[in-house]
Amino acid sequence: MAELLTFILGDLFGILTLLLGIAVGITLGRMWAAYLTLAKINAAENKEPATNYREQLAGMIQFTHLFSGDLTKQIEQLETLGEKLDSPSDSAPVDDEARSTKAVQLVAEIAAANQRLKRRLESAEATLKTQAQELEDSLSEARTDALTRLFNRRAFDEEQGRRWAHWQRKQQPYCMLLLDIDHFKQVNDKYGHDAGDLVLREVASRLMAVMRETDYLARIGGEELAVLLPEGDWDAIAAVACKLLDAIRRLPVIYGECEIYVTASCGLMSVTHAESSSGLIKGADEALYAAKSNGRNCGYINDGTTLIPIEDLASGKVTALKKVPRDQLERKKPDSSDVNSAATVSDIEIAASELKNRLFRMSQRAC
Ligand code: GH3
Ligand code: MG
Ligand code: MG
Repeated sequence: MAELLTFILGDLFGILTLLLGIAVGITLGRMWAAYLTLAKINAAENKEPATNYREQLAGMIQFTHLFSGDLTKQIEQLETLGEKLDSPSDSAPVDDEARSTKAVQLVAEIAAANQRLKRRLESAEATLKTQAQELEDSLSEARTDALTRLFNRRAFDEEQGRRWAHWQRKQQPYCMLLLDIDHFKQVNDKYGHDAGDLVLREVASRLMAVMRETDYLARIGGEELAVLLPEGDWDAIAAVACKLLDAIRRLPVIYGECEIYVTASCGLMSVTHAESSSGLIKGADEALYAAKSNGRNCGYINDGTTLIPIEDLASGKVTALKKVPRDQLERKKPDSSDVNSAATVSDIEIAASELKNRLFRMSQRAC
């Protein structure tokens, strides 16, 4: 009987030690994950983590110290019990019955210690869960734009870096779309900054409503948004871009009694046409500039050599004439000799498009 009890006690002791190991493992794992996330933020920003993350992490570290102190005490207690079990003291009775009584007593002590440990582990688990959640919330807040609740620039840069690396390793292509609200300054000037903020929120939610789960939308600047789209056929990508622009222009934003009509321009480039991650953003930006230069309220795709209007691609009506050679879209204001030179077909197209845009804006003056 005494041998059986000793055997059971030995097993119990082993299980408890294992439990302690698991608890310490979980704790250290969480700490490590939190540390890695902070290290990433540091690397992205190249600066110290914000004070609240440091404080939260310090809280977790302090708690883990206290918790591991408790665990050490618990292990010591268990070891003492284990020693008592292995080598009963000289004064202890040696007959079988006395040994059994002693063994039963030890079982009761170990069971009580086990209960204490279980409660401690449960409360430690709950505390760590809450702290990990708080830290996660702070980290997610650091990646969210406060006004629109979209991902912010930092989150976007990380995601873009991740997708570029994935493209390099696994050849999984994607497309970069940059979108900029047209004449947004005029919205602020005419209706006020609060109205501008409302327009930004409304544009964000309209885009969210028409995007697919695999698309990644972020606000990367004042009135500038970016979308990462998994690559499909060009006409499909162009159709998505048309859908996004349409979602913005279709209905006015209602601000009090005012109806504010808004349009946006966009530029796209596929990773398959880019030589580097920064080249991809630059290429999409060039296409956006083409859209702005060609009257706004439209979009262009940059294929590395040519800028093509998205509407032509989406409708399958791409013609050589509609393609705009990149060298015609230099980012400089025309000098006086340009002003005096005869207008080209392209100049007339641009002027007509700008006129169309002005007429569109005049129609907003109802308010
Ligand atoms: P374009 O069609 O060429 O893009 O002209 P634009 O007026 O949209 O561009 P511009 O860069 O001249 O002006 C952008 C304006 O966006 C200026 C800035 O005050 C405003 N803006 C930036 N961030 C915010 C914001 O968070 N809220 C509001 N209401 N306005 C903002
Ligand atoms: Mg802008
Ligand atoms: Mg703008």
